[in-house]
Amino acid sequence: MTGPDTLDEYRGKRDFSRTLEPPGDAEAVLPSPIFVIQKHDASTLHYDFRLEVDGVLKSWAVPKGPSTNPKEKRLAIPTEDHPLGYAGFEGVIPEGSYGAGTVLVWDQGTYRNLTQKSGREIPVAEALRQGHVSVWLEGKKLRGGFSLTRFRTGKGEAWLLVKKDDAEADPSRDPVAAEPQSVLSGRTLEEVAAGKDE
Ligand code: MN
Repeated sequence: MTGPDTLDEYRGKRDFSRTLEPPGDAEAVLPSPIFVIQKHDASTLHYDFRLEVDGVLKSWAVPKGPSTNPKEKRLAIPTEDHPLGYAGFEGVIPEGSYGAGTVLVWDQGTYRNLTQKSGREIPVAEALRQGHVSVWLEGKKLRGGFSLTRFRTGKGEAWLLVKKDDAEADPSRDPVAAEPQSVLSGRTLEEVAAGKDE
């Protein structure tokens, strides 16, 4: 277990008397392991891609969001670990708070590890340390294999999120543009921002 200590950065950035984001004790929402993609209209719009690993959500900010086209490489910038309970968070982070803006749950589901080396499965935590992981997503919008590959380390650490060329690949789809709503509430960002009922 990496344990809850990896949430120190998450907690340090937030004032839980101001934001409705969970401090980290909320329960997970689906069978393990889960993935979630949150559409986040912060200072710049992005999609937060999160994978459950050792009790926390490993996280990347993907400016353009995921693609179902294996030829599209999407930049993914690592961000701090989030608590499992964050996977169900949808709402408005108040002005003046870290990440201020509107969040909706763009996709959510379970995943399984596909990462192998020389025919042996590499655990996700180890794969992430090595800089390459492959997962099979079972979401509502996204299904099939995706890989995350680190291409820059250090201060400007950066990864690429790419659809694997499998039966679920579909270059004709553009889910980010065509399916903007929350998979939890059906709401758009504008409706979440306006506080419209779920
Ligand atoms: Mn974000």
